[in-house]
Order: sequence, then structure tokens, then C-alpha cells
Amino acid sequence: MTLKNLPKLLSTRDLIKIYNLTAKSQLSQNFILDKNITGEILRLREGGWIAVYHKIVKTSQICSDDALVVEVGPGPGLLTRSILETGVSNMVIVEKDKRFLPILTQLSEVSKGVLKVLHGDILNVDHSLILQAANITEIPVEGAEGDRLNCRVHLIGNLPFNIASPLLVQWMKMLYNREGIFRFPSVSMTLMFQKEVGDVGINIEYSTELFLVLIRFKKFKRIVADVEDSRRGRNSVLVQSLCEAKKVYQLPSRVFVPEPKVDAVLIQLKSLPNPVLTVPVNEYEEVVRYFYGKRRKTIHSALIKLKSKISPEKFESLTDGIEKLEIDLSLRPEKLTSEQFCRLTKIFIENSIKI
Ligand code: SAM
Repeated sequence: MTLKNLPKLLSTRDLIKIYNLTAKSQLSQNFILDKNITGEILRLREGGWIAVYHKIVKTSQICSDDALVVEVGPGPGLLTRSILETGVSNMVIVEKDKRFLPILTQLSEVSKGVLKVLHGDILNVDHSLILQAANITEIPVEGAEGDRLNCRVHLIGNLPFNIASPLLVQWMKMLYNREGIFRFPSVSMTLMFQKEVGDVGINIEYSTELFLVLIRFKKFKRIVADVEDSRRGRNSVLVQSLCEAKKVYQLPSRVFVPEPKVDAVLIQLKSLPNPVLTVPVNEYEEVVRYFYGKRRKTIHSALIKLKSKISPEKFESLTDGIEKLEIDLSLRPEKLTSEQFCRLTKIFIENSIKI
């Protein structure tokens, strides 16, 4: 069953008024509510928000053949509605704030079973509940002819900024381990970042289409920074070892209510069919965190700092191994590629060094 023409719903402002839904800062609630907003993107006086969301949805290339669409933090359900109108056949939303449940349940009812509502915290939700809600008992396998559509999951969300960072790390780990909804052969992601982030180009090969996530979060400003960019950080290394990402377009902060301090940029991530990450993700993250914790130091200086923490034999074996990697140790961490961090991690693992 697909749904391309939802019945006309009340305006966002009306819904907010009727249900007395004041934005809660502790849940990072920044909505697009003002249908009269004008601007480069929001030219329409009527239904401005829907223009934004339609653009986001169009970018995501969601389609009725997708096995599953999962939206995080639907709030009043505006993005949700745009997604439904693309004709998706199976969608689950996860919302923590129960005040939105009546609105979302109504949307679910008019969707004739396409939309399933889960009340919960996306950080803790059991993914088997998402699959259960979606009535998926078996994860599809990639078709012999390489058609990924019906084995693709889309993860979408205008993520609450206060959980965006831990959530992304969690998702990356799940993707690496192929857990929960990340067991789908194909997953896709589009992220709303700060403007500065979107201006940083990234270019990684991929073919798996992965999540679609909408994120607006300061800490994410480094996620898409490429090697050579001083804004590159831990999250850039982790994400780019598993996904390809690119800037899609920018949204001014004024379109959100309440207005956040930063503009937003929509970023699309797609999983790498052959991820750069070939070492265990937890150890990888630890090693990356260690060096980025000393980001003003060169790799060599950061290694010297380990001397007092491990036995002399281990230290010698570690440095011997690292020297053979042919990585320029005079570089700072942001100059190292995800692949080089993988090789570094391997040496730490071989020497059983936990940092
Ligand atoms: N999608 C809506 C929009 O674009 O206007 C709302 C986006 S708002 C930035 C973030 C949404 O995530 C809110 O609805 C908030 O209640 C919800 N949220 C916050 N923390 C959450 C969590 N841990 N799990 C699930 N949803 C959460």
C-alpha cells in the first residue's frame, strides 16, 4: 500500500495551538512552523515548511520500493507527512515526547497503516521493535541483479542536537556490526549540519544507499571535513570510514522555531559497500579519540606520551610497528586518513594496547 495524497491536515500553527506544544529546549525542539517564512529556499508564502521538507525528501530519493523508512524525532509530523506523500510503503517514526503522540497517531490513521508510531528514545530503542512495528520478519538480501531498492532502509530525522553526536557514533558502530536496522544491505543518510560543515567538500566512493538523516548540531561541524581540513575531527574519521557524505544544501536558522544560533546544512551520507574500516570499531574509535584528544600534537608527540603508560617492551614494539606503516608521524591527526587510522589501530591491537 502506498499513499501519495494524504488528506489535508491542520496547519502546523493550529496543531501547536490546539495541543499547546511549546518547544522544549531539553529535547532540542526546533521546528519549522512559520508558513509565511520567505527566503531563498522558502519562497512559498503558503506551506513554506512543506517546500523545505519536500526538498529534503526529494534529495533523499525515498521511494515506494524502499523496504523501510525510519524517521527520528518527527515532532508535529511535518517532515513525516512529506515523506508519506512520496508514496513510501513502510515507515516507522520514533518520538520521545509523548505530547506529539495524538498528532502522530492521527497521521498514522490517515496513512492507512503505512505509518507506525513508536514512543521512545532513539538512543535506547530496541531495533527489533522497529522491525516488528514495520512487520519485517526477515531482512531482505540484495538482489542478484544489484537492485538495492527493495532492500534499502532510509533513516531520516531532524535530529535533536543534544543527542546527535552520541547517536551518530552509535549508528556508525551498529552499521559496522550490521545490527538492528543496519542489517539491511543498503542504508542511506542525509544530515543537516552547520553551514561551515556543508561548505567542506567530501568525496568518498560508495554505492550502498544508506540513511537519510537531518541533523543540526554544532558538534557535527567536523563530520564531513576531509583530510587537510583543520575542521576534521573524530566524527569525520569514524563516519568517513563507513560512509560517503556530501553537502546537499543550506537552510537559514531563521526557518526554525525557536531560532537556533546556527544555520543548517543538509548533508547526505551513503554507506560504503567496501568500508575503509577493517578493524574492530571500538578499538578504532579509541585510537582515533586518543590522537584527537591531543590534536595540537603530532602523531609522534602523542605516541611519546604513551611511554609512561605502557611497559618499555610494549612501547618499543608499538613504535616499531608504527614506523613500518610509512605514515608521516610529524603530521597532526587531522591530516591522517581513515585508512591510516585503521592501520594505526591494527598495531595497537597486535600489541594488545588499550588506551
Ligand atoms: N521533525 C520535526 C521538525 O523537523 O520540525 C522536529 C525536529 S526537532 C529538532 C527534534 C525532535 O526529536 C523533537 O520532536 C523531539 O521531541 C524529538 N526527540 C528529542 N530527543 C529524542 C530522543 N532521544 N528520541 C527520539 N526523539 C527525540
